[in-house]
Amino acid sequence: MTDRRDEIEAALENVRSRIATACRAAGRSIDTVRLIAVTKTFPVDDAALLTDLGVTDLGENREQEAGPKADELRKLRPDAPVRWHMLGRLQRNKARSVARWAAEVQSVDSDRLVDALDKAVRNARDAGDRAEPLDVLIQVSIDGDPDRGGAPLGTLAPLAERVVRTGELRLRGLMAVAPLTMTPGEAFGRLLAAAERLREDHPRATEISAGMTGDLESAIACGSTCVRVGTALLGTRGLASP
Ligand SMILES: *Cc1c(COP(=O)(O)O)cnc(C)c1O
Repeated sequence: MTDRRDEIEAALENVRSRIATACRAAGRSIDTVRLIAVTKTFPVDDAALLTDLGVTDLGENREQEAGPKADELRKLRPDAPVRWHMLGRLQRNKARSVARWAAEVQSVDSDRLVDALDKAVRNARDAGDRAEPLDVLIQVSIDGDPDRGGAPLGTLAPLAERVVRTGELRLRGLMAVAPLTMTPGEAFGRLLAAAERLREDHPRATEISAGMTGDLESAIACGSTCVRVGTALLGTRGLASP
């Protein structure tokens, strides 16, 4: 039987080479795209192996799973330089826990969530539970379907304004998942246009988080600066998981 570490190492090499090929094709430097390894539904041991292999950015989409996993990883690998990213839909009542473990939340999509995160981060810093402000990406709903999370394109400007007016959140850019109703190229093209508009008002909001196992090449061609990869690194998740 193959050792799990070897398995993940080979998968990681393959993903890095896909990213490199896509960057070359787009005439971009490879260090303009960061990789978030999405560990949702996989055990903390896999996250630990990823950090052993040099991965520093880990992503989760459910607070209930991510908080305990981040705690366990800190015990297993106290010296690993890990940044956790919250990628999934977040309820306001989870803001307090997210503020303990997340370096970045990529799924911010409402004023109420902005306010809740700002307050939670301030409390966490006052209590000595975190040092840094929280990096924030606004999740965009490219097709405007409110059921799957994300703010409609037309609401981005006021939402971005709200983020920059807080004391504890840093606006870094936009995130999206390509909807099934259009091609990834079409979807990521719209995201890129929105990101360029956002950058006119907020020059430091340069991140475009787009691209997963199935569509990372297309996302990189459309300017993605951050791909979020689960399946291609750790394998297929069970049917029950999102
Ligand atoms: C699960 C998830 C991913 C990773 O998807 P894969 O297809 O397994 O690479 C990326 N982004 C978000 C928001 C996710 O929930």
